Amino acid sequence: MEKIGFIGLGIMGRPMAKHLLKAGYPVFILSSSAAAAELKEAGATLSETPAAMAKATDVIITMLPDSPEVESMVMGEGNLLQAMKPGTLFIDMSTISPATSITLYNKFSGRSIEALDAPVSGGQAGAEGATLSIMVGGNEPAFQRALPVFEKMGKNIIHIGKPGAGQTAKACNQIIVGMTIQAVAEALTLAKKSGVDVAKVRSALLGGFAQSKILDLHGQRIIDRNFKPGFKIKLHRKDMRIALQTGQDLSVPLPGSAVVASQMDAMLAEGKGDLDHSSLALYLESVAGL
Ligand code: NAD
Repeated sequence: MEKIGFIGLGIMGRPMAKHLLKAGYPVFILSSSAAAAELKEAGATLSETPAAMAKATDVIITMLPDSPEVESMVMGEGNLLQAMKPGTLFIDMSTISPATSITLYNKFSGRSIEALDAPVSGGQAGAEGATLSIMVGGNEPAFQRALPVFEKMGKNIIHIGKPGAGQTAKACNQIIVGMTIQAVAEALTLAKKSGVDVAKVRSALLGGFAQSKILDLHGQRIIDRNFKPGFKIKLHRKDMRIALQTGQDLSVPLPGSAVVASQMDAMLAEGKGDLDHSSLALYLESVAGL
């Protein structure tokens, strides 16, 4: 089995790396990670630096917050680009900008290292249940090489197309998720201020055309006032920036996304960026005088 380095062990990365360990892959993680002790206990090997990890592994996966973190992990002094061996495979599963993924692909190609962008959807539950949707950009042979690894973390694994195409698919995903949260939060805010039973409204709507996973899971979060992440609203704001920037680059107006992004800005301005993205409902409730 290929030796896998896994960098970025947060809400998503920790359970994903654990699935690889459970499947029998030798997994290497950075000793500086907050999750190092927990994953060592589960069988992971500690590496002192990204360069040491690169020397010991065949595949490196990153699951970091945003483009700057992935760029510096790859291109920073002594980091992955210089340290990974020709013939190895780099897989970035973070959500970053398609343009950055293409830049990284080109840099790795120059060193005979394959690179895939493979962002995911399905949230914490998908990561913990190994049911993530994985959307992949890159070359077919690299996709085929990575497929057995992806199958340990996800269910719906689609090779979308060329480098960057996985991130474009993910930006599309985040537009739909962001606007659906907006729709659910608006509807439940209206129900709440009308004085009707919000839980009954959610139940009724789940049986009709308005049914969605977001009405189901995030509707319940809003009713329970459970805004522990999950998916931090500051990370979703980052994804709306990626979508809006990509839209601007291609002259595609995204008016609904712009509204959702500015409401997320209001949440960030109030210091609420670490709440789950379903907490967009708090903004709508506050402007509705609730
Ligand atoms: P998180 O904040 O829980 O985890 C990020 C991890 O990266 C943290 O453990 C942090 O310590 C680590 N990290 C940050 N900078 C680092 C660096 N320079 N070197 C090493 N480690 C570093 O975030 P998350 O929710 O796990 O999200 C990770 C990525 O997955 C993001 O791009 C996010 O948009 C995407 N994503 C998240 C979800 C979700 O529901 N949480 C769903 C799909 C995609």
